[in-house]
This record gives sequence, C-alpha cells and structure tokens, in this order.
Amino acid sequence: MSAYGKEAYGLYRKFSSKAVAHTIKSYSKFSIPYPYPVAQSIEAANGMEYPMICFNYGRTEKDGTYTEATKNGMLGVVIHEVGHNFFPMIVNSDERQWSWMDEGLNTFVQYLTQELYDNKFPSRGGPAWTIVDYMKLPKDQLEPIMTNSENIIGFGPNAYTKPATGLNILRETIMGRELFDYSFKEYARRWAFKHPTPADLFRTMEDASAEDLDWFWRGWFYSIDPCDIAIDTVKHAVYDPTAAAPAARNGGLQRGLDKPAVHAFEDISKIRNKQDKSIVFLTDADTTLRDFYWRYDRGLEAYDSVTKQPAPTFGAPTVLSDEEKAKYADANLYEITFLNKGGLVMPIIVEFTFADGSKETKRLPAQIWRKNENKVTKVFYTNKKAVSIKLDPMRETADIDESNNSWPNVAEPSKFTLFKTKSVGRGQSVGLSPMQAAAGNK
Ligand SMILES: [Zn+2]
Repeated sequence: MSAYGKEAYGLYRKFSSKAVAHTIKSYSKFSIPYPYPVAQSIEAANGMEYPMICFNYGRTEKDGTYTEATKNGMLGVVIHEVGHNFFPMIVNSDERQWSWMDEGLNTFVQYLTQELYDNKFPSRGGPAWTIVDYMKLPKDQLEPIMTNSENIIGFGPNAYTKPATGLNILRETIMGRELFDYSFKEYARRWAFKHPTPADLFRTMEDASAEDLDWFWRGWFYSIDPCDIAIDTVKHAVYDPTAAAPAARNGGLQRGLDKPAVHAFEDISKIRNKQDKSIVFLTDADTTLRDFYWRYDRGLEAYDSVTKQPAPTFGAPTVLSDEEKAKYADANLYEITFLNKGGLVMPIIVEFTFADGSKETKRLPAQIWRKNENKVTKVFYTNKKAVSIKLDPMRETADIDESNNSWPNVAEPSKFTLFKTKSVGRGQSVGLSPMQAAAGNK
C-alpha cells in the first residue's frame, strides 16, 4: 500500500503501489519469497528503508505534469527502498561493517527489477559500461569494495554501483544467467534471517555453482584494478589507413527540453530480457502504466516537431573498397595478441566483422590469463575475411579504454556524446519538461 500527499497524486496514484508489488514479486523470484504481511511506500522528500515501510520521493509540478527524471527517480527509489526488505533486513548482513553487502546487492536486484518493469528503463547502475567512468579514476581516488564502511570515500560507486555491476558481469558474462541465478538464490536461501559476511557470499556463490570464482572476488572486490584489455597485434591482416572513421554522432534532441531518458545503447541484459519469452514486462502486462514518457521514449508522443531529430547513430563499421577487398585472399587465420593494461582479468570477447557485413563473436573465459596475466596470444579461425575486429562489442566487461579495443584502430567518438544520459538530482527538475510542452500544445 501507499500513502502520499496531494502534491504527489500524479505520480503516486499511478505508480506507487504497483511498483511496490512488482518489487516484491521480482525480489521474491531472485531471492526468497517475501515473508512479511505488508509493504508500504510513503511519499516523503527522501529515500529510507525500514522493515515493511519505506519513505520515497517524487512529486509532480503544480500543473500535475512531471519530468521523466522525476518519474524514473521515483520508481527507482520505491524499488530500492522496498528491496531493502530483502537486503539487509531478511538476509541480515552488517551494513556498518560492509555497506556493499546490502546496498550493493540491493542495487543489483533493483537493477534486475527495473529491467523487468520496462525494457527501456534507463538504469544507471548495473550495466557494465555504466561503471567505466568510476573505474578509470586515478588510483589514489579509488579503494577496494572490501573496505570498512567507516573508511569509504566514494560511497556511491564503492558500496552501490561497483558491487552491483560486478554481480551483473558475473551473471551475464562469466557464469551465465541460469547458474548465477541459482547460486544467488541459494545465497539468499541459506542466509535469510542469519548474518552473512562477505566470505559467506563468496563461498556460497562458488559452492552452489561449482565454479572457482576466486579470481573474480580478488580482482573486483579486493583490488582497484580496472579492466583494460587491449588488442596489441593482429597477424595475417593489413592495417587499412583509408578506413573511414565513424560518422559524427548526432547530438540528439535540441536543447531546451529533456530528450528521452532511455539509453541509446541497448545493453546485453535488455536484449536478453527481450529475447526471453518467459519475461512479460510490467508495462506490457499492465498497460495503464504506459504514461506520457513510456510513449515519448518510443517516439509515440510528439510534443514539438521542431525538436524531433533522427535517433543517435553509432559509428559506422569500417568498410573496405572492392579493390582492397580483392587484394585479400581467403585468409581466415588471425593470431591476436592481447595486453592486460588495467590489471583486472576478465573474459576476452572478440567480435569479427566480415566483408559481407556478418559478424562472429568468440568468447574466451578469464582462465585464458591463468599462466600470464599481462599478455596472451590466441589464434582464431574464421570462415571469412574479417574487415574489423573489436573487443567486448557489447561492453560487458567495463573496459575503461575502448580506444585500444579495435582493429584497425579507428578513432573512438567522444564518450561524452555517448553518455549524455546522466544522473539528475533527487526530487523535482527545473525548467519546461516535454510533458508540459505537450500539454501546452493541446
Ligand atoms: Zn539503499
């Protein structure tokens, strides 16, 4: 149930209790069934959790409209605070000692829950690429996740988003969804109403999955090393200096109004969720949740034709001319040397793009680094000639320097342009929102 003032009617009437119910269902699926008789979302100016009750922000403008940031922030905070019933209130870790054990695990399941709410939800914590800005900071500004909570400087990334991202990388890239979900559920089942420490999580994930994940715990939780795998050399192919650089990126909608908050980059979790026929997104099951921004994100809600521009496009793949293509024989042997410049070992994911436009992805487990964690060489066989090779094409490993991930080495477009969807402050936004502009036009 929910309670809220009239200033929040426009958001809370529509979303609050349904978000609470969705959270309980989703968390119950990933951990243990919700054991309490009630869950309450109370509208307030903050976000804070207590057993069975929590306080969440999110108010409309005076005219009843709201910005997309306010709506998504409100949904995110409701899911997060309700989610705390599971971590740390049921799986009762010590948050004063290890904040990441409840905030990190909770942020992770919050992310899974948001993704099941709407396939376009612009989650900021969870996808590997969203932690890159933090991972590339100078080392004297970083500290391991395994740092006592009293001593943490960067609380948000350290306790919330880096652990959540690490678990998502484990799920999507290292263990696979089936094995991860079984093991994570087993952790919740074993430690519900008990007091787990970090080692209990690490051991249970290994014990339940029968996978040795020591290297991952050491790298992601005990060190500050980032992932930066580079393609050092590629043999049996010729660098093409005439390769066209990717087209300049579209800046998106004109300034003045917020552009849709959905990420231009559709990450691997969203794609897999969409392909999983067992998943029904809440906004599809309950179409009353399709508000202005649901339609706006999908281009169904026009508010001002002047500001409409084509969706941003990514850099075009390198294309060789016919003449250059002819020079290549049917070479299909590629010896690639990879450098581990960041220190953190990760699976190596190599995408070959062939002359006919088709692609093939080869995935090497992190154990490839076991005898030499600095440099490895691997020979790949392909049926066609590759025109380009790219590391981690789906951005699954939080690689902090993508400029060394491509062969031929093409200039990477500005990442600022890529990541214009940035966090906004809590509560309400300032200025005219698309929803207000649409209301004014009608
Ligand atoms: Zn929290």
